[in-house]
Amino acid sequence: MSPAWPGHSVDQRAAAYWARQITAALGANLIVQEVVAAWKNWQASSRGQQPDAATGSTYLTALAAYLTAHGVTALLIGRLTPIVSDIYAEGYAIGTKGATAAVHGAAGDWEGWEPGNAPQGATAPALTALQANAGTEARGMAETRTMALARLLAGAAVNGDNLGQVTALIQGQLGDDSAANQVSMTELTRAQSAAAAAHYQSAGVQTQIWVSANDDRVCPLCDENAKSDPVPVGMPFPTGDLRPPIHPGDRCALMPGPDHYDAG
Ligand SMILES: [Zn+2]
Repeated sequence: MSPAWPGHSVDQRAAAYWARQITAALGANLIVQEVVAAWKNWQASSRGQQPDAATGSTYLTALAAYLTAHGVTALLIGRLTPIVSDIYAEGYAIGTKGATAAVHGAAGDWEGWEPGNAPQGATAPALTALQANAGTEARGMAETRTMALARLLAGAAVNGDNLGQVTALIQGQLGDDSAANQVSMTELTRAQSAAAAAHYQSAGVQTQIWVSANDDRVCPLCDENAKSDPVPVGMPFPTGDLRPPIHPGDRCALMPGPDHYDAG
């Protein structure tokens, strides 16, 4: 069993906090109504055409493009970008605190850590770089959501759902807790491991290992890295990745290699 990453004491609580921000932002009535309006226009312009087995994927692509052209994707990007940026701020803070504790072989003192603690105005170069990329990450998430909405609406067309039913479906999709939680966990992990990598570098740590969360969630893609010998700090792991996450919902982290403690 590998040593425990100190950040695993708080990352799930933090991810749950940010997931609630995401569902509140995306599930806001204004956004739901925008999607409903786009759907009504689409239905009118396609004269109630329905997808079938032969036209299904063309229909989906066209509907997703229609939603994007009607501003739905941009609306989602606008809501998600500041949240992703704040997730990076908190993830980076957890990562720095966790890596500092790990360097000293400690578990860290997390008493009083309030999830949602996103320090503003931080200037660490690695954090600035992540936050500069928040819009791009948000775009990817928004495109995934747009496609999920298109899939949902295509199903509604087949079922002949009325507007009330369609509105409820859209609300359910935009307020989906598990999708939001996966996104917030992935981005927290991204910031934590960027912070840990930067901290190990500056603290003169020689080697690092890839540790899983030791929980019941299977992380098969990470297994290869977790089983690897320690790698020099800054060098890639067997999968070719420098650090977690390497899949949605990844909670893996970087820890100093055993030699770090042997020497100390
Ligand atoms: Zn993993």
